[in-house]
Amino acid sequence: MRTIRLRHHGVLAPNARLRGAIVPGPAHKPDGHAKEHAHTSARMGWARLLERVFDLDLEHCPQCGGEFRIIAAIEEPAVIARILTHLGLPARAPPRAPARRPELFQAA
Ligand SMILES: [Zn+2]
Repeated sequence: MRTIRLRHHGVLAPNARLRGAIVPGPAHKPDGHAKEHAHTSARMGWARLLERVFDLDLEHCPQCGGEFRIIAAIEEPAVIARILTHLGLPARAPPRAPARRPELFQAA
């Protein structure tokens, strides 16, 4: 699990009275409504993020321009493997490369 290990102090502290005056966006209001706004206007959807970063349009069909819609969410690993195998795609993630060892004793 990933956790945030950054602590803010002073006016950037989570409950600082002046935090709302300097931190933009509704997600950082110090009045206790931060959780309500965390997943609405301040956050960007995954499709918009992919479009912005990789210039991929995942909301429209490349052939007819129609809008895509989600018709199923498949979470069973065995079913996912069967579908990928049927499509001729690899059903397993590629193996991880081993971590590189830092060169500790480089000649100066
Ligand atoms: Zn289409």
